[in-house]
Amino acid sequence: MDNKKEEIKIDLSSVSNMDAIKGTNPSVDSFIDKNTQKKPEKEQKVSELIETGYKVEHFDKYPRKFEFVPADKVKLPSNGLPYQSCDDEDVKSGFIWIYPLTMKEEEILSTPKYINEGVATIMALNNCIKSNIDAMDLTVGDFYYLLMYLRQVSISDNFSFEIKCPHCGHEFKHDIKISEQKFDELDESNFNEPIRVDLPMTNYTVLLGIPRIRTIREISWMMNDTKNEIGVADVLYVRTIAIITPNGNEVPKSDWVVFYNNLPHKDYDTILNFTQFDNGMGHIVGNVKCPECGKEIEGSSVDLNTDALFRYES
Ligand SMILES: [Zn+2]
Repeated sequence: MDNKKEEIKIDLSSVSNMDAIKGTNPSVDSFIDKNTQKKPEKEQKVSELIETGYKVEHFDKYPRKFEFVPADKVKLPSNGLPYQSCDDEDVKSGFIWIYPLTMKEEEILSTPKYINEGVATIMALNNCIKSNIDAMDLTVGDFYYLLMYLRQVSISDNFSFEIKCPHCGHEFKHDIKISEQKFDELDESNFNEPIRVDLPMTNYTVLLGIPRIRTIREISWMMNDTKNEIGVADVLYVRTIAIITPNGNEVPKSDWVVFYNNLPHKDYDTILNFTQFDNGMGHIVGNVKCPECGKEIEGSSVDLNTDALFRYES
């Protein structure tokens, strides 16, 4: 008789609900990770999901009955790169058709309920867009660009707003001419979506989207809905396109927040290196010098109330 003990081997591929075990206990996770090196399957899944990318929502624009003012064809700073899953060929190639503001949009923009809910500019822009894309799917950069455009054609090329200096606290009025603003453009060399992040400790792979209006809205909805503080996991959740296990399975969306909360420090740090939260203000405001202390204020730190864009008095 052969006395040599057989090493106990578990075929993990036959565990049907392995994803259910995962995440429950760190030692289970590391056991699974060490025993499942099915790289090719994972790579295949990752490339499939990268190919799918961010899915723009299907949006059939309801046509205007009275087209008193024609829509203009506007070139988007993103050049349409983030909208390749859109049905609208113009949008895919970087153009959007947009009407100037009408009475309806001015009404929306001055309705306190919509302003308080932070949806006034989104609703107004959706009314003005003639192309088949939802303003919620626009990148932050394109969204602000179109709001500026609407102000320029419907109200004025001049825009002045309040800035509070983060260095000395001084508040002052800052004037810009919209026609003189430079907007950052996207091209093949600087467009990257989904952003792929391979996590060194857990060997999971995370695919992130670039910030869109939907991202920002979802975060503010969360803030309104819960009494709890919004954590980094929540912010990452709204930017996540997919999370892939070392075996090439997808982590269900319902587990994403827990997944982020359970990540070891090194993995967590790796993700944060890939996610700069650009509020879109940098390329609108540029860098401003504080008239009081003379220090430079980064445009990205300016908290611009977009509703102010549609007030006449400034
Ligand atoms: Zn200052």
